[in-house]
Amino acid sequence: MTGATRDDPWAPARARLCEELRQEGISDPGVLQALATVPREEFVREEDRSLAYLNGPLPIGHGQTISQPLIVGLMTTLLRLHGGERVLELGTGSGYQAAILAQLGARVFTIELEPVLAREADERLARLGYDTVQVRAGDGAFGWPEAAPFDAILITARTPLVPPRLVRQLRPGGVIVLPLEEPDGGETLVRATLETDGHLRIERFGAVAFVPLRGAVRRTPVGPDRS
Ligand code: SAH
Repeated sequence: MTGATRDDPWAPARARLCEELRQEGISDPGVLQALATVPREEFVREEDRSLAYLNGPLPIGHGQTISQPLIVGLMTTLLRLHGGERVLELGTGSGYQAAILAQLGARVFTIELEPVLAREADERLARLGYDTVQVRAGDGAFGWPEAAPFDAILITARTPLVPPRLVRQLRPGGVIVLPLEEPDGGETLVRATLETDGHLRIERFGAVAFVPLRGAVRRTPVGPDRS
């Protein structure tokens, strides 16, 4: 897997950001190591490179953003990866979150609705050597049935429900982490665990702010669907 080279000029800024994230509560050593290795400056626009190691989201074009590093660290921690898992991501964006998952040893299947972003992320991840990531352009609401079942699913755009189609692509014991739109208009980081009896156990981890998931998820009828 790719990583920082010895003469990497960005290494000090990356290390400082990781220290800041540690102080903000990211404590998983693997997650911190991944954040300390993936070159975030490669995932932002050329003119924003000097901002790559500030703990904030940045625009990546097409009205979309690369997530705040703290949120990437938090969501990645909630997935509890140890290496070797199959992970589906909805919302490739820049590809940064996918690279973090790959750095942790996961095999990553990531879907991006915006074709230009999908192509750019695919090229970027290939150039940086993240060869365990596959990028697909399309609506992630249908999942990636040929690659299922997944150990974990990560949605990096806010969604009005835990999509039932995606739950069906999860192995028993698997988890979905997503920003969930609450009925009161708020938005909460949620982990849903598929228990072996088929029950979804929901845990909430505080308020977040993501761009919306677009496409078919907004048209999914409540109740059983037939996909
Ligand atoms: N994970 C990204 C940030 C994602 S921002 C990163 O690390 O940079 C959310 C992304 O979800 C946007 O790029 C948006 O185009 C995409 N998106 C929105 N609706 C989608 C859908 N239905 N399927 C797949 N991607 C979607």
